[in-house]
Amino acid sequence: MPTIEDLRNELRRIDGRGYPAYKDLRGCCFRSNDATFEVHLDHIQGDPFAAPSHVRIRLAHSVAGFPEWTHSNSSRRIGLENHLAHIVSAACGKFSSRAGSGKSGLLDIDAPGKEVIARTALLYLEDAIEVRLSLGLPARGRRIAGREAAQMLCDCLPQLAADCLRFSELDADKIQAAVETNEDADALRSQLKGNHLLAFVANGSILPRRSGIDQRPLGSNDAIAFQSPADLEVTLTTPNRGAVSGLGIPVGITLIVGGGFHGKSTLLNAIERGIYNHRQQDGREFLVTCPDAVKIRAEDGRSVSGVDISPFINNLPNQADTTAFSTENASGSTSQAANIIEALESGADTLLIDEDIAATNFMIRDQRMQELIAADKEPITPFINKVRSLYNDHRVSSILVMGGSGDYFPVADLVIGMDQYLPHNLTKEAKQIAANHSSIEVNENPAFGSISERSPQPASIDPRKGRRDVSVKSRSTHHIQFGEHDIDLSALTQIISSSQTRAIAAALVYACEKNIIDGTRSIAQILDLIEQDLNRGLDTLSHGHRGDLAIFRRHELAAALNRLRTLGISNIEQGVKNKGSDEGKRKR
Ligand code: ADP
Ligand code: MG
Repeated sequence: MPTIEDLRNELRRIDGRGYPAYKDLRGCCFRSNDATFEVHLDHIQGDPFAAPSHVRIRLAHSVAGFPEWTHSNSSRRIGLENHLAHIVSAACGKFSSRAGSGKSGLLDIDAPGKEVIARTALLYLEDAIEVRLSLGLPARGRRIAGREAAQMLCDCLPQLAADCLRFSELDADKIQAAVETNEDADALRSQLKGNHLLAFVANGSILPRRSGIDQRPLGSNDAIAFQSPADLEVTLTTPNRGAVSGLGIPVGITLIVGGGFHGKSTLLNAIERGIYNHRQQDGREFLVTCPDAVKIRAEDGRSVSGVDISPFINNLPNQADTTAFSTENASGSTSQAANIIEALESGADTLLIDEDIAATNFMIRDQRMQELIAADKEPITPFINKVRSLYNDHRVSSILVMGGSGDYFPVADLVIGMDQYLPHNLTKEAKQIAANHSSIEVNENPAFGSISERSPQPASIDPRKGRRDVSVKSRSTHHIQFGEHDIDLSALTQIISSSQTRAIAAALVYACEKNIIDGTRSIAQILDLIEQDLNRGLDTLSHGHRGDLAIFRRHELAAALNRLRTLGISNIEQGVKNKGSDEGKRKR
């Protein structure tokens, strides 16, 4: 294999030539004399103004020297990778030297956010630590700046590896905190199921964020730390911190109530994010939620393809078939119904619903309205009439924020009242009130109804655009351009990074190319197969070594597919789901 010095000579040789001469380096790899450090040039940009080139650096473990405890299980390893990616991200700023034309001198990594999830930007592999970077190959005008390129590739990159990827150069206490925090969070989450819990919020957690667009925790002077009511407190164990106590939200139906601005939505939003681990100092490190909790909201305007929303909606004025409901433009209530059925289809076991973003007529219908509008004139069976049977028949729990209506008191298992940002157990009081108003009965339907399975039709999922066989891109966290069409993901607040969106886009292409979407498989089967392949790592999804992908959940992948406006569906025969049994639910 050629050496770094060979690369330096080559870059000097092509100094001043036209930019395309860089192309000869594509796919080449250069190593240090002692073979412990390598630079791979995976992708070379076409001109100085195009998207930057992709380089990979690898540092052998013999030099990196991370002790066993930093990566002894996957929780620790992901915590370490994430921590190192933050360090490399800071160093990229230092080593970037933007001089010359276009992207010249740019050095960047797909930096992680507050959530700690598996990413391709930095990988602790069997033989080496690998970092995938974007690098703007330097130019003057459209001519190669070879000396500058040599400095970046042959001096800066080895220096960056030496500074950021050697254990001896780093703060061991911070590494320990990162890997232990991640391991403890995984340990907490793994205890939820056995304790019949949906979520756990450790005492002392800081839930509020600085603003709607800033995920940093609210300053410690302003934030009121979370404290569980004594009678709802549970204690779980962690490998590194010992016992941790906090609020345990049990399976079943939980209401979060309280006055306006008392922290209800903040609690639910934090629970929604608890499907992911968080960095230390985030305030939510020890708030964990079961992995299959799905946020549900009204999303009027979305398209819906062949979804059986008949558990909630029947007899629409236009006689539309609600057992295979399709529309280009769903209403608040039909979109929310479709969102729920699709979540059940992808295997959700918990629904999270906030009154702020739910369709009122989907959630409740009060006594007076029932008197005015006869039942046979109202297509909607509100969620309140189904929430119990959803749990009884399908073991799907709900956590609902409901500040404006007491109608759910009779059906709730637990009522948490938020008062000045602190939770209280108000179940007894709410049940007493419900008993005092026993004339108001919940017209609860005895059965939820079956959840039919749908099979996406491959011809309807077309990634082609113009002359390109595959043109699939994502420019932001909540948008995918799929062939000729746009997929709007703005309602999916559990997608937390554009790296996840890119991976979801890649997974859709993968499912088409590998014929996983074959016209007969159900959505659940398709998701199972993709998940299975993803066990081999995110590189499965891409050609080459992309450094800009992050792991996502099956629910968000299904949600993206369901929002593709061209999606065609054939319905698979019904009757798979049995009452109260696990049959037909996906295997875990
Ligand atoms: P609700 O849904 O009950 O109307 P929100 O959850 O939207 O209330 O919270 C209202 C405001 O209070 C938000 O600006 C939020 O950031 C802030 N807040 C929420 N929880 C806390 C807390 N624990 N400490 C301080 N401020 C908080
Ligand atoms: Mg609110």
